[in-house]
Amino acid sequence: MAGSGGVIVMDESTCLVRALARIAKFYAEESCGQCTPCREGTPWMEGILHRIEHGEASAADVDRLEQIANSIAGNTICALGDAAAMPVQSFLKKFKPEFLRHVEARGCPFGDDAWGKTQESREAVVGEMRV
Ligand code: SF4
Repeated sequence: MAGSGGVIVMDESTCLVRALARIAKFYAEESCGQCTPCREGTPWMEGILHRIEHGEASAADVDRLEQIANSIAGNTICALGDAAAMPVQSFLKKFKPEFLRHVEARGCPFGDDAWGKTQESREAVVGEMRV
């Protein structure tokens, strides 16, 4: 197997919290559950991101999200754990103020138009939270 890679192109109107919530949901769903950091950490990150997006998180949750990703990276059997942790690490490294803005605003500061979607269609894009 030669491996794989993915590229997602987003413009400046994209809410990065929403984008990361969607990515985290994917990895939480794909975790096979064989090793603890991935089994426990991926749904935990999904849940925190859901709370950040919906204005139900604190600044401590943003720090916790980073800690969870750091605990997963390098501590799992297969590469899915690293793949789940790396987007969280890089989004927070580059765009942490945007996550904190969601906390302070108690929701998405960009409103329902981020990603060009209404809140109703958001569930169709991001989906219901599994946990
Ligand atoms: S890192 Fe791989 S082996 Fe471990 S639980 Fe996640 S998907 Fe399964």
